[in-house]
Amino acid sequence: MIDLHAHTTASDGSCTPSELVELARRTGLAALAVTDHDTVGGVAEAVQAAAAAGVALVPGIELSVDYPQGEFHLLGYYIDYTDSRFLERVLYLQENRFQRNAVMLRKIQAAGFDLSMEEIEAESGGGQIGRPHMARALLKKGYVASVQEAFDRYLADGQPLHVPKVKLSPEEAIGLIHQAGGVAVLAHPKYLEFPTRDALRSALAGWKAAGLDGLECYYSQHSEGETEAYLELARELALLVTGGSDFHGISKPDVVLGVVYQGTGGDDRLLGPLKQAGAARAAQRKSAGGKVAPAERGSE
Ligand code: AMP
Ligand code: ZN
Ligand code: FE
Ligand code: FE
Repeated sequence: MIDLHAHTTASDGSCTPSELVELARRTGLAALAVTDHDTVGGVAEAVQAAAAAGVALVPGIELSVDYPQGEFHLLGYYIDYTDSRFLERVLYLQENRFQRNAVMLRKIQAAGFDLSMEEIEAESGGGQIGRPHMARALLKKGYVASVQEAFDRYLADGQPLHVPKVKLSPEEAIGLIHQAGGVAVLAHPKYLEFPTRDALRSALAGWKAAGLDGLECYYSQHSEGETEAYLELARELALLVTGGSDFHGISKPDVVLGVVYQGTGGDDRLLGPLKQAGAARAAQRKSAGGKVAPAERGSE
């Protein structure tokens, strides 16, 4: 059983990387990918913990990407999470998020809520802060009855306290993952906003032409019918198939680590092709004169 989509306290998950790996071990996962939003801050700790726990750890990230219909999430697998160009761009996203959080807090306060950044930070477990933490802080203060109410009334896109964050274009995000030797996989296609399957197919074909490698066909929130449709699209477009739960711990209490398809675990057989694609992207990066592995670099 494997799970290729999980979050830690480095973004908006509630388990530290070590706790997540320990949970994966107890769950009996053969492999786990750590895919935090716009950060690889949890990967090094997870890699270390996984080596001791006997779990295969796939280093990953989940980037927010802009497309004309809205935002989608792009998973990057087997990236060199020490790549300096990659880290530089991710740092830029983090700095933008930091500024955006401050603007959102001012709006929250101006709307009459007595909330401080410290109280929001207290919900984050020390990692990157985002709207889920603001929602939890509003809940704790009794301003809303649930996290969902905080989004629906205030924080969701289009609601009065929302401030957009900088996002990458699909081409840039795919290229960024490739240049760090990684595999680019479109996350939870369920959340893409296309009116018809044909519209989805042509968007996917366009992203495939831009280098997209795979599609997260198996996902904890996909119905059987959706899964079948995505598997068919992946076949038609020669995209890799992956699967993950999107485990976040307490902020998504219904999502269980390892449960990725209709209550069952992710199939071990998904890992081989992904790993192969990772090796191919790493080789491509090397022949393109990409960065040498940190150990070979010496002093610069
Ligand atoms: P941020 O990165 O700060 O913009 O927060 C994004 C996260 O907020 C997503 O990963 C979701 O977990 C959550 N989120 C975004 N929109 C909604 C919504 N309408 N309802 C509930 N959660 C949401
Ligand atoms: Zn999240
Ligand atoms: Fe996502
Ligand atoms: Fe996710």
